[in-house]
Amino acid sequence: MLLKQWRFLAIFACIINWGGLNSYVLNAGRRLTNKYSSYRDVYKTEDIENVLKCYNFRCVYEDGKYFRCFNCTHHIAFIVESKEMIFDGTKLFLTRPVVKNPRQNRFFVAAVDVEKILKPLLEPEKIKKYLPNGGCIVIDAGHGGMAEGAKNSRLNLVEKRLTLNTARALQTALSKLGYRVFLTRDSDVDLSLERRGQWANKLKAQLFVSLHYNAAESVQARGIETFTYTFASHPSTDRTKALVSDGSTEINNRFDVQNTYLAYCIQKSVTIRLGSIDRGVRRARFGVLRHIHCPAVLIECGFLSNDDEAKRIATSIYQEKLVSSIVEGIQRYVHNTIMRTAVVQSTQVLKNFQNKKLSLPKRPLLKSQGKPNKQALLNAYP
Ligand SMILES: [Zn+2]
Repeated sequence: MLLKQWRFLAIFACIINWGGLNSYVLNAGRRLTNKYSSYRDVYKTEDIENVLKCYNFRCVYEDGKYFRCFNCTHHIAFIVESKEMIFDGTKLFLTRPVVKNPRQNRFFVAAVDVEKILKPLLEPEKIKKYLPNGGCIVIDAGHGGMAEGAKNSRLNLVEKRLTLNTARALQTALSKLGYRVFLTRDSDVDLSLERRGQWANKLKAQLFVSLHYNAAESVQARGIETFTYTFASHPSTDRTKALVSDGSTEINNRFDVQNTYLAYCIQKSVTIRLGSIDRGVRRARFGVLRHIHCPAVLIECGFLSNDDEAKRIATSIYQEKLVSSIVEGIQRYVHNTIMRTAVVQSTQVLKNFQNKKLSLPKRPLLKSQGKPNKQALLNAYP
């Protein structure tokens, strides 16, 4: 009888443990209503090796801390019990820490991170972009007027002036590539966050970049970080616990996948070119991004509160490198993703082909895709 009870308890403990490792117990039962979230449960997790084996990754656990996965193209380092992930040398924050099942030696990541971070990075060619050649980009120079933003009074640097200078230079550089580029402000005026978003939507922006410079209590803080709007029902990067207020789905959540890849491209390019500390791709519910009807990022282009970094920021070399690396990041995003219209056309060609109206063209439809592949097109992200 005693043996039977112990067996029962052991099985029960296993079930509890398995549930604990495979799903985060936070407001359990709340579901996403966002139709762009393909995962079923906000707190569902997935086995990292199972996800990555489709991409021919091999994984090793090192130093009791790193779970490293690599194939012939990419190297991903997950830090166990941490939200940090290094993808091909660039830092990104997951929504929740990676967890280890000690008995099975398996590692788990939140399902939303698989869908909205890992897969877009591994298969950018499946992401639909919204920016054609000659498309519309809106650049937002942070702060203005009475809202001066961060300051370094020792060096007489004010964020609102720096953001406007960088925005103007970025406008010139992107215009040379044929884009139609608008600024939310081109003078020292204070605009509300709502007005900035409304202006971008009125112009039918296809890409939105907000520029800021950072400040922190600690004068040691330095480096670059790029933000996107936080996924619906998930906490922003500065928290791990979800709050009830995290549940709302905003307009910009339609572009979670595009936002992640755009932010990654920019963060990678800027940190490499400037040689700055990589503070990662992060998420926050910034009002300026919330209602934007297109992929949108907010770049914190360095810390004014750190004298060394502030001195560098004020130089023309830093500004030139910053602008050219943001342009490079945008171009990488544009080059590696597919046009929405191109998908429609390609799908139509495939339909016509199935109806025997057309033979498949000899030249590939999409340079980046090669021969059109029906399954690839059907699998494309929203
Ligand atoms: Zn700012």
